[in-house]
Amino acid sequence: MGTEPKTLQEAIVYFSDPDNCLNYVVAKRWPNGVTCPTCGSTEVRFIPTRRLWECKAKHAKKQFSAKIGTVLEDSPIGLDKWLMTMWMVANCKNGVSSYEISRDCGVTQRTAWFMLHRVRDAMQERFSGKLSGEVEVDETFIGGKARNMHVGKRMRRITGTGGKDKTAVIGIVERGGKVRTAVVPNRKKSALQTEVRKHVEAGSALYSDALQSYNGLAGEYAHQVIDHAVAYVDGAVHTNTLENFWSLLKRGISGTYVSVEPFHLFRYLDEQAFRYNNRKATDAERFSATVEGIIGRRLTYEQVTGKLHAE
Ligand SMILES: [Zn+2]
Repeated sequence: MGTEPKTLQEAIVYFSDPDNCLNYVVAKRWPNGVTCPTCGSTEVRFIPTRRLWECKAKHAKKQFSAKIGTVLEDSPIGLDKWLMTMWMVANCKNGVSSYEISRDCGVTQRTAWFMLHRVRDAMQERFSGKLSGEVEVDETFIGGKARNMHVGKRMRRITGTGGKDKTAVIGIVERGGKVRTAVVPNRKKSALQTEVRKHVEAGSALYSDALQSYNGLAGEYAHQVIDHAVAYVDGAVHTNTLENFWSLLKRGISGTYVSVEPFHLFRYLDEQAFRYNNRKATDAERFSATVEGIIGRRLTYEQVTGKLHAE
């Protein structure tokens, strides 16, 4: 089996062996030994020729693969291509386009697009606890290339207040810690303050710009405002940590992805936030965290494309 890969080049070599791919995923999926996803039994038999397991108990769906119960479930794409895609998304600073994945892994662009969305789903943070200490909040607009889009696509775009064909996004970051992002309907008080209260512990130091929507948070937070019309930094009062995050995000979106529909924007935010929040980890650790993220999640094609959201 050899040692686990630490670089892209080692990953390519390592995951070209289907046994290494399977063993890597199995070790994460079933750290205490393979169990039947239907009945939980450990009485399972491995079928090497098919790389499947079969449960010895009497019930339907006796055979199962390592992809079951993960975002990869039902995917006909091999683990080798999945793992290489995860390696690249986890470790490419500005993200990877579906065209690059298509070329590098030998799948169609449409397949690569769907794979990327599933990987982003695996990267979505399961929020636990609130941000605290010194926290910055800021908003930005993403998008705005609707004029070049097909009419049908343009119809589906969200039109929030502020930038006409742009989508409003809020970012909240704990200095030295994690960032959290959300697509918001607008930059009004209720939309922004709801997110602040959801993600920031009361009593924290909170820094924002002079946008009126943040007025009224001083009762719960040590809220200090930097008026960007006057200065960008006043001692500890600034939102530079978020400014840096926004520039990373925008470089990825405009440079790598060209255009992102508002419905899918949260996934790109999740992807960029994941890399940011794991910025101190090694490539191998970020990859490992991504593979762990696939477990216990499902994402169907309908969910990705929003067909089930057409209410
Ligand atoms: Zn069973």
